[in-house]
Amino acid sequence: MTETVSIAQLTNWLNTFRDTVGENKEYLTNLDAEIGDADHGSNMARGTAAAADKLAADNPDTVAALGKAFGMTLVSTVGGASGPLFGTFFLRFGVSAGEVTELDAGALAAALRAGAEGVVARGKAELQDKTMVDVLLPALDELDKQLADGAALRDALAAAADKAETARDATGPLVAKKGRASYLGDRSIGHIDPGSASTAYLFRALADSVA
Ligand code: ADP
Ligand code: MG
Repeated sequence: MTETVSIAQLTNWLNTFRDTVGENKEYLTNLDAEIGDADHGSNMARGTAAAADKLAADNPDTVAALGKAFGMTLVSTVGGASGPLFGTFFLRFGVSAGEVTELDAGALAAALRAGAEGVVARGKAELQDKTMVDVLLPALDELDKQLADGAALRDALAAAADKAETARDATGPLVAKKGRASYLGDRSIGHIDPGSASTAYLFRALADSVA
């Protein structure tokens, strides 16, 4: 059986992401208060709300258009580092997916990977720099591994979401090397990276929307 993910499911993913970010806005801001400037929750809540509204207004009919609309809105509504970074993720996701109305498992994994590579290209963070990259890359490696082992897409996405949450928690002991938290040096140790927390929500939302 070939499993595919429709535009409706992808829209549900992004709406769920918006909802989770909104519900956890204070938590995300509190994480950023510890090692940044206490705006990650409000940045992400504002950006995802505007981006989801844009999807509702545009009703994109291809995955390329969906990624472009969501990503461009994040870039234009979020002033912090996370706007351009998450925005780039969705722009690259859409470009990789192309003018299609659904994605099979391989195309979905490839589009997510393209998004993550865009974040790395834009932000220049490496693994262990205590950024969202520390969640994106391990979660996508897990997704690829599960699919290569023949897992059903929904199970592979659930495993990737579990991995994302483990990877988020693993940012705690790291010393930040990129972004505002890097100004703290060793004092960033012991705090979870805010962007890693929102990225874990992104994967959980995807797993829940496809299940
Ligand atoms: P700002 O740091 O401008 O206040 P946010 O608070 O919204 O923006 O987002 C901070 C998050 O952005 C960090 O927790 C981290 O995950 C992510 N981030 C910052 N710089 C980079 C980078 N160069 N590469 C990847 N992610 C980054
Ligand atoms: Mg901040």
